Amino acid sequence: MEISELRNKIDHLDDSIISLLAERINLAKEIIHLKVQSGIEIEDKNRERDIILNLLDKHYENINPVLIKKLFTLIFNQTKNEFYNSGTPVSVQEAIKKRPIIIAGPCAIESEEQIDNIAERLSLTGIKFLRGGAFKPRTSPNDFQGLGSEGLDYMLSAVCKHGMYSVTEVLDAEQLEENYDKIDVIQIGSRNMSSYALLKSVGKLSSYDHKPIILKRGFSATIKEFLYAAEYIIQAGNPNIILCLRGIRTFEQMDSVFRNTPDLASILELKDKTELPVIYDPSHASGDSKYVLSLAKAALNLGADGLMIECHDSPNKAVIDGKQAITPLQLEEFLVNEVY
Ligand code: PEP
Ligand code: MN
Repeated sequence: MEISELRNKIDHLDDSIISLLAERINLAKEIIHLKVQSGIEIEDKNRERDIILNLLDKHYENINPVLIKKLFTLIFNQTKNEFYNSGTPVSVQEAIKKRPIIIAGPCAIESEEQIDNIAERLSLTGIKFLRGGAFKPRTSPNDFQGLGSEGLDYMLSAVCKHGMYSVTEVLDAEQLEENYDKIDVIQIGSRNMSSYALLKSVGKLSSYDHKPIILKRGFSATIKEFLYAAEYIIQAGNPNIILCLRGIRTFEQMDSVFRNTPDLASILELKDKTELPVIYDPSHASGDSKYVLSLAKAALNLGADGLMIECHDSPNKAVIDGKQAITPLQLEEFLVNEVY
């Protein structure tokens, strides 16, 4: 057969593949809508695994099994992501299942205008999770401690206006109880990873709705200590935990330009040791905007389920952590070129 004739056949086949794919995506979307109506979880990892195993069993000799796995994983993710981006309201528990999880926003909520501006820019990039500290754990008691509940009111208006979810740290159980409805994803910071009473209360307070909890690794915690801390929350009633690596303190900090030593290899270890999602915070790991996106890329390459990145519209005016903040535009370029 002539090359042109073969190419003709291939073009026809490609047409069929695409129209079959479109049909498949529509059926999967119908299933997702039925699941949402009946309150069933959208993601079904067992079903996804069975589909791939069944196809692998068919032994198409000229098809590399890796191609089947990669192709179908892409198809599954594409369908789910289209749904998550469709604007259909979903619970935060569902929204957080999208991969990669991208959480961005300023270190601290500084004003109504600041958080609204940043939220607007980030939401236009398709980011759903807005971070912003209202209760800041500061080394010095004389430094800005955050706007507290008032800051969370500003954050709430921003997330409602821009179709996002709020991610914020609480330092004690009272702060969580008082502000529970303003927080979509609860953050326990590095300094509090081993505050066992706090872990128990947060797990208990959120046990009725399983609101997601981001648990950051203590900067001197071992992997075992980190996993036990998660276990405290699970045993208190909320298994919906996301582990966040954010760099650890080692002898390097005696003279390194890095604020912390980036614990990238821990992604590999945690992915082996636990089913919990693992995200990476390259902002606190490096302490310098210059290195943030290289670490972010490395973290995703190593299998991290997502990123938490500090982002500010005017980093040099940021009240806290301006040195490590990147702009929404820098994040957008990174996501478009390297992630989406
Ligand atoms: C933060 O993410 O706002 C923060 C304070 O980080 P960490 O707890 O990792 O220091
Ligand atoms: Mn910070």
